[in-house]
Amino acid sequence: MKAWLRAASLAVAALATQGMAFAGAYAYKTLTSQPATGEETSEKRYFHCLETGCGADFDMTTGQMVAALKGNTEGSVPCPKCGKALTQERYMCDGCNTTYEPVGHGGRPDKCPHCGKSLIVARPKR
Ligand SMILES: [Zn+2]
Ligand SMILES: [Zn+2]
Repeated sequence: MKAWLRAASLAVAALATQGMAFAGAYAYKTLTSQPATGEETSEKRYFHCLETGCGADFDMTTGQMVAALKGNTEGSVPCPKCGKALTQERYMCDGCNTTYEPVGHGGRPDKCPHCGKSLIVARPKR
């Protein structure tokens, strides 16, 4: 990353911290103004850091994720351990309470890779 770009994103991060309450309220408004998805901003999401040598697993709420993405030019939430934005969202299996990788772009596999529980969710047809 270029030095000026890093400085700029640090400034954005500082602003984001100071304006967290505002950002949270804004994120909430943004999310709720979209078509209902049945997800709450307080819904817990799970992430895994892909950085070599880090591999941290962490979670945050949808509201926190939206706030984190607002000050981020790299499109992923930054890892709280190493600070790199090389993170991937994981899904939690409610059958075995283990996170698993999405397939493709945020898709869910048919079955949990750990316990084999079916993950196919019936989607309402339009
Ligand atoms: Zn990391
Ligand atoms: Zn499972």
